[in-house]
Amino acid sequence: MSFTDDAGSALSSGLGMANRAGQAARIGIERTHLSQQRQNLMRELGNVAYPTLRSHPELVPEAQELLTRIIALDQRMSSLDEELKSAKSASAPLATRQSPSSGARGVAVVCPRCGNTIAPGAHFCMACGLSRAEAEKQTRGAR
Ligand SMILES: [Zn+2]
Repeated sequence: MSFTDDAGSALSSGLGMANRAGQAARIGIERTHLSQQRQNLMRELGNVAYPTLRSHPELVPEAQELLTRIIALDQRMSSLDEELKSAKSASAPLATRQSPSSGARGVAVVCPRCGNTIAPGAHFCMACGLSRAEAEKQTRGAR
C-alpha cells in the first residue's frame, strides 16, 4: 500500500462511494443474469433427464412426485389438444376427421406393461408412464 494509493483514495472518497454504489449495482445485475442462466440450464437439464427418469423413476425417488405431476399435465394437455381438434373440425365440417384406427390418440389402449387403461387422448400410461406409441407397438407385436 503506497502513499499515492492512500492519497488517491482519500481524494476520491466521495467519488469512490458513488463508484462503489455503481459497482454494487453492476455486481447485482451480473448476479441476477447468472442466476437466470442457471435457471434456464436447470430447466434444460430437466428436459434432458426427463425421458430417462420417466422410464426409470427409481433412479431419483425425490423426483417421482414431480414426474407424476408432469405426466398428469401432459395428459391434460393432450386431452385439450383433442378437444381443440374436435372443436376445430366441428367448426369446419369439410375437414377430414381423423379415423379411429390404430395409432390414433383418441382410442383407449390397455398398457402392456402394467395393464392400466391408457385413456383416449392420453400420451402416456397414467400408472407407469409408458408412452402410447410404445404401448401400441408392443400390443401389436404381441399379436
Ligand atoms: Zn402402464
